[in-house]
Amino acid sequence: MHNAQYRLASRPEGAVRHSNWLYTEEPVGRPAEGEFLVKVEYLSLDPAMRSWMNAGRSYVPPVEIGEVMRAAGIGTVIESRHPDYCVGDTLYGVWGVQNFAISDGTGVSKVDTSLAPAPVHLGVLGVSGFTAYFGLIDVGKIKEGDTVVVSAAAGSVGSVAGQIAKILGCHVIGIAGGAAKSAVLLDELGFDAAIDYKSENVRARLKELAPKGVDVFFDNVGGTILEDVLARLARGARIVLCGAVSQYNAESRPKGPSNYMQLLVSRASMTGFVFSDYAERFGEAAVQLAAWLTDGRLKSLEHTVSGGIERFPDALLDMFAGGNTGKLVLAL
Ligand code: NAP
Repeated sequence: MHNAQYRLASRPEGAVRHSNWLYTEEPVGRPAEGEFLVKVEYLSLDPAMRSWMNAGRSYVPPVEIGEVMRAAGIGTVIESRHPDYCVGDTLYGVWGVQNFAISDGTGVSKVDTSLAPAPVHLGVLGVSGFTAYFGLIDVGKIKEGDTVVVSAAAGSVGSVAGQIAKILGCHVIGIAGGAAKSAVLLDELGFDAAIDYKSENVRARLKELAPKGVDVFFDNVGGTILEDVLARLARGARIVLCGAVSQYNAESRPKGPSNYMQLLVSRASMTGFVFSDYAERFGEAAVQLAAWLTDGRLKSLEHTVSGGIERFPDALLDMFAGGNTGKLVLAL
Protein backbone atom coordinates (compact mmCIF):
# COMPACT_ATOMS: atom_id res chain seq x y z
CA MET A 1 0.00 0.00 0.00
CA HIS A 2 1.45 3.36 -1.04
CA ASN A 3 0.78 6.88 0.12
CA ALA A 4 0.59 9.36 -2.78
CA GLN A 5 1.33 12.97 -1.92
CA TYR A 6 1.74 16.43 -3.38
CA ARG A 7 4.65 18.36 -1.93
CA LEU A 8 5.65 21.97 -2.49
CA ALA A 9 8.51 21.91 -5.02
CA SER A 10 8.92 25.69 -5.42
CA ARG A 11 7.15 28.88 -4.48
CA PRO A 12 4.91 30.27 -7.23
CA GLU A 13 5.22 33.76 -8.60
CA GLY A 14 1.74 34.70 -9.70
CA ALA A 15 -0.54 31.80 -10.53
CA VAL A 16 0.35 28.30 -9.35
CA ARG A 17 1.99 26.10 -12.01
CA HIS A 18 2.26 22.33 -12.19
CA SER A 19 6.01 22.74 -11.72
CA ASN A 20 5.38 24.11 -8.21
CA TRP A 21 4.32 20.60 -7.15
CA LEU A 22 6.26 17.43 -6.57
CA TYR A 23 4.23 14.20 -6.71
CA THR A 24 5.70 11.52 -4.43
CA GLU A 25 4.77 8.02 -3.34
CA GLU A 26 6.01 6.35 -0.20
CA PRO A 27 5.00 3.33 1.87
CA VAL A 28 2.13 4.00 4.28
CA GLY A 29 3.55 4.61 7.76
CA ARG A 30 2.52 2.79 10.94
CA PRO A 31 1.26 4.70 13.97
CA ALA A 32 3.44 4.77 17.11
CA GLU A 33 1.99 4.53 20.63
CA GLY A 34 -0.42 7.50 21.08
CA GLU A 35 -0.97 7.86 17.32
CA PHE A 36 -3.46 6.64 14.72
CA LEU A 37 -3.52 6.18 10.95
CA VAL A 38 -6.19 7.87 8.84
CA LYS A 39 -7.27 7.08 5.31
CA VAL A 40 -8.07 10.52 3.90
CA GLU A 41 -11.35 10.57 1.96
CA TYR A 42 -12.09 14.24 1.24
CA LEU A 43 -9.79 17.24 1.00
CA SER A 44 -10.92 20.82 1.35
CA LEU A 45 -9.52 23.03 -1.42
CA ASP A 46 -9.22 26.61 -0.21
CA PRO A 47 -8.05 29.93 -1.69
CA ALA A 48 -5.83 30.27 1.39
CA MET A 49 -3.68 27.42 0.04
CA ARG A 50 -2.20 29.91 -2.39
CA SER A 51 -1.04 32.14 0.47
CA TRP A 52 0.40 29.17 2.42
CA MET A 53 2.72 28.60 -0.57
CA ASN A 54 4.36 32.03 -0.06
CA ALA A 55 7.29 32.66 2.26
CA GLY A 56 6.85 35.34 4.87
CA ARG A 57 4.57 36.45 7.63
CA SER A 58 0.94 35.40 7.58
CA TYR A 59 -1.65 34.10 10.01
CA VAL A 60 -0.12 30.60 9.76
CA PRO A 61 3.48 29.61 8.92
CA PRO A 62 4.25 28.96 5.25
CA VAL A 63 4.43 25.41 3.89
CA GLU A 64 8.15 24.66 3.52
CA ILE A 65 9.73 23.50 0.27
CA GLY A 66 9.60 19.70 0.17
CA GLU A 67 6.80 19.52 2.73
CA VAL A 68 3.48 17.79 1.97
CA MET A 69 1.05 20.57 1.00
CA ARG A 70 -1.17 21.60 3.89
CA ALA A 71 -4.85 20.73 3.50
CA ALA A 72 -7.74 20.12 5.84
CA GLY A 73 -9.94 17.13 5.18
CA ILE A 74 -12.03 14.29 6.45
CA GLY A 75 -10.88 10.71 6.82
CA THR A 76 -11.46 7.44 8.64
CA VAL A 77 -9.23 5.83 11.24
CA ILE A 78 -7.91 2.50 9.91
CA GLU A 79 -5.40 1.69 12.66
CA SER A 80 -5.16 3.16 16.15
CA ARG A 81 -2.78 3.13 19.10
CA HIS A 82 -4.52 6.13 20.66
CA PRO A 83 -7.03 5.71 23.51
CA ASP A 84 -9.46 8.35 22.20
CA TYR A 85 -9.68 7.35 18.53
CA CYS A 86 -10.98 4.00 17.30
CA VAL A 87 -10.87 2.24 13.97
CA GLY A 88 -13.90 3.47 11.99
CA ASP A 89 -14.04 6.96 13.52
CA THR A 90 -14.61 9.72 10.94
CA LEU A 91 -12.38 12.68 11.72
CA TYR A 92 -11.72 16.23 10.56
CA GLY A 93 -8.07 17.26 10.61
CA VAL A 94 -5.32 18.98 8.70
CA TRP A 95 -4.15 15.82 6.94
CA GLY A 96 -2.23 17.32 4.02
CA VAL A 97 -2.57 16.52 0.34
CA GLN A 98 -2.01 12.79 0.69
CA ASN A 99 -3.99 9.57 0.86
CA PHE A 100 -2.94 8.55 4.38
CA ALA A 101 -1.92 10.56 7.44
CA ILE A 102 -0.62 9.74 10.91
CA SER A 103 -1.81 11.90 13.79
CA ASP A 104 -1.56 12.19 17.56
CA GLY A 105 -4.96 13.89 17.66
CA THR A 106 -3.75 17.51 17.64
CA GLY A 107 -6.29 19.73 15.88
CA VAL A 108 -8.56 16.77 15.16
CA SER A 109 -12.31 16.62 15.74
CA LYS A 110 -14.90 13.88 15.33
CA VAL A 111 -17.42 14.25 12.52
CA ASP A 112 -21.03 13.12 12.83
CA THR A 113 -21.88 11.90 9.33
CA SER A 114 -25.42 10.99 10.46
CA LEU A 115 -26.08 14.75 10.53
CA ALA A 116 -24.81 15.46 7.00
CA PRO A 117 -22.46 13.86 4.48
CA ALA A 118 -18.73 14.41 5.02
CA PRO A 119 -18.25 17.25 2.46
CA VAL A 120 -20.88 19.36 4.26
CA HIS A 121 -18.63 19.25 7.34
CA LEU A 122 -15.93 21.00 5.28
CA GLY A 123 -18.41 23.67 4.14
CA VAL A 124 -21.57 24.83 5.91
CA LEU A 125 -20.91 22.80 9.06
CA GLY A 126 -17.17 23.46 9.04
CA VAL A 127 -14.70 26.26 8.47
CA SER A 128 -16.80 28.02 5.80
CA GLY A 129 -19.85 28.07 8.04
CA PHE A 130 -17.90 29.28 11.07
CA THR A 131 -16.19 31.98 8.99
CA ALA A 132 -19.49 33.26 7.62
CA TYR A 133 -21.23 33.08 11.02
CA PHE A 134 -18.62 34.92 13.11
CA GLY A 135 -17.67 37.26 10.28
CA LEU A 136 -21.20 38.52 9.84
CA ILE A 137 -22.46 38.43 13.39
CA ASP A 138 -19.41 39.37 15.46
CA VAL A 139 -17.28 41.35 13.02
CA GLY A 140 -20.03 42.76 10.77
CA LYS A 141 -22.52 43.21 13.64
CA ILE A 142 -25.40 42.76 11.20
CA LYS A 143 -28.85 43.75 12.30
CA GLU A 144 -32.29 43.27 10.82
CA GLY A 145 -32.97 45.59 7.89
CA ASP A 146 -29.30 46.10 6.97
CA THR A 147 -28.31 46.10 3.31
CA VAL A 148 -25.59 43.46 3.09
CA VAL A 149 -23.31 42.87 0.11
CA VAL A 150 -21.31 39.65 -0.22
CA SER A 151 -18.52 39.08 -2.77
CA ALA A 152 -17.57 35.62 -4.13
CA ALA A 153 -21.19 35.08 -3.10
CA ALA A 154 -21.63 31.72 -4.86
CA GLY A 155 -18.50 30.33 -3.23
CA SER A 156 -18.32 28.35 -0.04
CA VAL A 157 -18.05 31.12 2.57
CA GLY A 158 -20.02 33.65 0.51
CA SER A 159 -23.01 31.40 -0.09
CA VAL A 160 -23.35 30.75 3.64
CA ALA A 161 -22.78 34.40 4.58
CA GLY A 162 -25.52 35.61 2.24
CA GLN A 163 -27.98 33.02 3.48
CA ILE A 164 -27.30 33.84 7.14
CA ALA A 165 -27.85 37.53 6.39
CA LYS A 166 -31.21 36.64 4.79
CA ILE A 167 -32.21 34.48 7.76
CA LEU A 168 -31.41 37.41 10.07
CA GLY A 169 -33.68 39.76 8.12
CA CYS A 170 -31.26 41.67 5.91
CA HIS A 171 -31.54 42.80 2.30
CA VAL A 172 -28.82 40.76 0.56
CA ILE A 173 -26.97 41.49 -2.67
CA GLY A 174 -24.50 38.90 -3.94
CA ILE A 175 -21.63 39.57 -6.35
CA ALA A 176 -20.34 36.57 -8.31
CA GLY A 177 -18.91 35.67 -11.71
CA GLY A 178 -21.29 34.58 -14.48
CA ALA A 179 -25.01 34.34 -15.15
CA ALA A 180 -25.23 30.78 -13.85
CA LYS A 181 -23.94 31.86 -10.45
CA SER A 182 -26.38 34.80 -10.33
CA ALA A 183 -29.19 32.32 -11.01
CA VAL A 184 -28.05 30.12 -8.12
CA LEU A 185 -28.01 33.12 -5.76
CA LEU A 186 -31.50 34.24 -6.75
CA ASP A 187 -33.30 30.96 -7.41
CA GLU A 188 -31.66 28.53 -5.00
CA LEU A 189 -30.34 30.63 -2.13
CA GLY A 190 -32.98 33.36 -1.91
CA PHE A 191 -30.70 36.40 -2.28
CA ASP A 192 -32.60 39.62 -3.06
CA ALA A 193 -30.32 40.60 -5.92
CA ALA A 194 -27.24 39.38 -7.76
CA ILE A 195 -24.53 41.18 -9.70
CA ASP A 196 -22.47 39.35 -12.31
CA TYR A 197 -19.18 41.20 -12.02
CA LYS A 198 -17.94 39.62 -15.24
CA SER A 199 -20.62 41.20 -17.42
CA GLU A 200 -22.13 44.05 -15.39
CA ASN A 201 -20.87 47.37 -14.07
CA VAL A 202 -20.74 46.67 -10.34
CA ARG A 203 -20.70 50.32 -9.30
CA ALA A 204 -23.73 51.22 -11.42
CA ARG A 205 -25.67 48.15 -10.31
CA LEU A 206 -24.95 48.86 -6.64
CA LYS A 207 -26.31 52.37 -7.08
CA GLU A 208 -29.56 50.87 -8.37
CA LEU A 209 -29.78 48.02 -5.88
CA ALA A 210 -28.63 49.83 -2.72
CA PRO A 211 -29.96 53.39 -3.07
CA LYS A 212 -29.46 54.09 0.65
CA GLY A 213 -25.98 52.57 0.67
CA VAL A 214 -24.40 49.39 1.92
CA ASP A 215 -24.45 48.75 5.68
CA VAL A 216 -22.30 45.62 5.72
CA PHE A 217 -19.88 44.37 3.08
CA PHE A 218 -18.66 40.82 3.59
CA ASP A 219 -15.62 40.89 1.33
CA ASN A 220 -13.98 37.73 0.06
CA VAL A 221 -12.42 39.27 -3.02
CA GLY A 222 -10.74 42.69 -2.53
CA GLY A 223 -9.40 44.59 -5.57
CA THR A 224 -11.75 46.57 -7.78
CA ILE A 225 -14.88 45.05 -6.25
CA LEU A 226 -13.82 46.42 -2.87
CA GLU A 227 -13.36 49.85 -4.46
CA ASP A 228 -16.81 49.63 -6.04
CA VAL A 229 -18.44 48.87 -2.69
CA LEU A 230 -16.39 51.51 -0.83
CA ALA A 231 -17.96 54.02 -3.20
CA ARG A 232 -21.45 53.12 -1.94
CA LEU A 233 -21.11 52.78 1.82
CA ALA A 234 -23.90 53.89 4.12
CA ARG A 235 -22.99 55.95 7.18
CA GLY A 236 -21.56 53.69 9.89
CA ALA A 237 -20.98 50.81 7.47
CA ARG A 238 -18.90 47.78 8.47
CA ILE A 239 -16.59 46.07 5.99
CA VAL A 240 -15.76 42.52 7.02
CA LEU A 241 -12.36 41.67 5.53
CA CYS A 242 -12.70 37.93 5.15
CA GLY A 243 -10.35 37.46 2.20
CA ALA A 244 -9.02 38.97 -1.01
CA VAL A 245 -9.00 36.11 -3.50
CA SER A 246 -8.61 38.48 -6.48
CA GLN A 247 -5.17 39.40 -5.13
CA TYR A 248 -3.72 36.01 -4.17
CA ASN A 249 -2.10 35.39 -7.55
CA ALA A 250 -0.89 38.97 -8.05
CA GLU A 251 2.70 39.10 -9.30
CA SER A 252 3.41 42.38 -7.61
CA ARG A 253 2.15 43.88 -4.41
CA PRO A 254 -1.42 45.11 -5.01
CA LYS A 255 -2.22 48.80 -4.64
CA GLY A 256 -4.43 49.67 -1.72
CA PRO A 257 -7.98 50.76 -2.48
CA SER A 258 -7.64 54.19 -4.15
CA ASN A 259 -10.84 55.43 -2.49
CA TYR A 260 -10.25 54.25 1.08
CA MET A 261 -11.08 57.76 2.32
CA GLN A 262 -14.70 56.67 1.83
CA LEU A 263 -14.24 54.95 5.20
CA LEU A 264 -13.76 58.38 6.75
CA VAL A 265 -16.57 60.00 4.79
CA SER A 266 -18.98 57.24 5.85
CA ARG A 267 -17.64 56.86 9.40
CA ALA A 268 -17.15 53.25 8.43
CA SER A 269 -14.86 50.51 9.68
CA MET A 270 -13.02 47.72 7.96
CA THR A 271 -12.03 44.80 10.14
CA GLY A 272 -10.04 41.70 9.32
CA PHE A 273 -10.50 38.45 11.19
CA VAL A 274 -9.50 34.78 11.06
CA PHE A 275 -12.14 32.16 11.80
CA SER A 276 -9.87 30.38 14.29
CA ASP A 277 -10.04 33.45 16.57
CA TYR A 278 -13.48 32.07 17.49
CA ALA A 279 -12.41 28.46 18.18
CA GLU A 280 -13.90 28.52 21.67
CA ARG A 281 -17.31 29.33 20.18
CA PHE A 282 -17.33 26.83 17.30
CA GLY A 283 -19.86 24.78 19.27
CA GLU A 284 -22.35 27.67 19.31
CA ALA A 285 -21.98 28.17 15.55
CA ALA A 286 -22.20 24.44 14.82
CA VAL A 287 -25.49 24.09 16.74
CA GLN A 288 -27.05 27.12 15.01
CA LEU A 289 -25.83 26.20 11.51
CA ALA A 290 -27.02 22.60 11.92
CA ALA A 291 -30.44 23.84 13.09
CA TRP A 292 -30.81 26.11 10.04
CA LEU A 293 -29.62 23.31 7.76
CA THR A 294 -32.10 20.86 9.28
CA ASP A 295 -35.07 23.22 9.07
CA GLY A 296 -34.21 23.96 5.42
CA ARG A 297 -33.45 27.67 5.82
CA LEU A 298 -29.77 27.12 5.04
CA LYS A 299 -28.71 25.21 1.94
CA SER A 300 -25.38 23.53 1.45
CA LEU A 301 -23.70 23.92 -1.92
CA GLU A 302 -20.88 21.49 -2.58
CA HIS A 303 -18.71 21.07 -5.62
CA THR A 304 -17.01 17.70 -5.36
CA VAL A 305 -14.23 16.79 -7.78
CA SER A 306 -13.70 13.05 -8.05
CA GLY A 307 -10.80 11.15 -9.55
CA GLY A 308 -8.38 11.04 -6.67
CA ILE A 309 -5.35 12.92 -5.55
CA GLU A 310 -3.95 13.33 -9.09
CA ARG A 311 -6.70 15.88 -9.70
CA PHE A 312 -5.40 18.18 -6.96
CA PRO A 313 -3.30 20.64 -9.05
CA ASP A 314 -5.98 21.24 -11.68
CA ALA A 315 -8.85 21.42 -9.20
CA LEU A 316 -7.01 24.11 -7.22
CA LEU A 317 -6.34 26.12 -10.38
CA ASP A 318 -9.95 25.82 -11.43
CA MET A 319 -11.07 27.47 -8.20
CA PHE A 320 -9.15 30.64 -9.12
CA ALA A 321 -10.98 30.60 -12.45
CA GLY A 322 -14.31 30.45 -10.60
CA GLY A 323 -14.99 26.83 -11.60
CA ASN A 324 -16.62 25.98 -8.28
CA THR A 325 -20.09 26.80 -7.01
CA GLY A 326 -20.12 26.21 -3.26
CA LYS A 327 -17.57 24.29 -1.25
CA LEU A 328 -14.82 22.80 -3.42
CA VAL A 329 -13.93 19.33 -2.20
CA LEU A 330 -11.59 16.74 -3.71
CA ALA A 331 -12.76 13.16 -3.20
CA LEU A 332 -9.81 10.79 -2.92
P1 NAP B 1 -14.79 30.06 -2.74
O1 NAP B 1 -15.47 31.36 -2.65
O2 NAP B 1 -15.62 28.83 -2.68
O3 NAP B 1 -13.93 29.97 -4.07
C1 NAP B 1 -13.20 31.04 -4.55
C2 NAP B 1 -14.08 31.90 -5.48
O4 NAP B 1 -13.47 33.16 -5.60
C3 NAP B 1 -14.18 31.37 -6.91
O5 NAP B 1 -15.19 30.43 -7.06
C4 NAP B 1 -14.43 32.65 -7.71
O6 NAP B 1 -15.84 32.86 -7.85
C5 NAP B 1 -13.88 33.75 -6.80
N1 NAP B 1 -12.72 34.37 -7.45
C6 NAP B 1 -11.57 33.77 -7.83
N2 NAP B 1 -10.75 34.66 -8.40
C7 NAP B 1 -11.42 35.86 -8.39
C8 NAP B 1 -11.11 37.18 -8.84
N3 NAP B 1 -9.94 37.43 -9.43
N4 NAP B 1 -12.03 38.16 -8.66
C9 NAP B 1 -13.20 37.89 -8.07
N5 NAP B 1 -13.56 36.66 -7.62
C10 NAP B 1 -12.67 35.67 -7.79
O7 NAP B 1 -13.67 30.00 -1.62
P2 NAP B 1 -13.92 30.08 -0.05
O8 NAP B 1 -13.19 28.94 0.58
O9 NAP B 1 -15.36 30.25 0.24
O10 NAP B 1 -13.14 31.39 0.35
C11 NAP B 1 -13.69 32.68 0.07
C12 NAP B 1 -12.82 33.73 0.71
O11 NAP B 1 -12.84 33.57 2.12
C13 NAP B 1 -11.34 33.68 0.31
O12 NAP B 1 -10.87 34.99 0.17
C14 NAP B 1 -10.70 33.01 1.48
O13 NAP B 1 -9.34 33.30 1.58
C15 NAP B 1 -11.54 33.56 2.61
N6 NAP B 1 -11.55 32.82 3.87
C16 NAP B 1 -11.23 33.51 4.98
C17 NAP B 1 -11.28 32.89 6.22
C18 NAP B 1 -10.98 33.69 7.42
O14 NAP B 1 -10.87 33.11 8.50
N7 NAP B 1 -10.83 35.01 7.30
C19 NAP B 1 -11.63 31.53 6.29
C20 NAP B 1 -11.97 30.84 5.12
C21 NAP B 1 -11.92 31.50 3.90
P3 NAP B 1 -16.44 33.79 -9.05
O15 NAP B 1 -16.87 32.83 -10.10
O16 NAP B 1 -17.55 34.50 -8.39
O17 NAP B 1 -15.31 34.66 -9.54
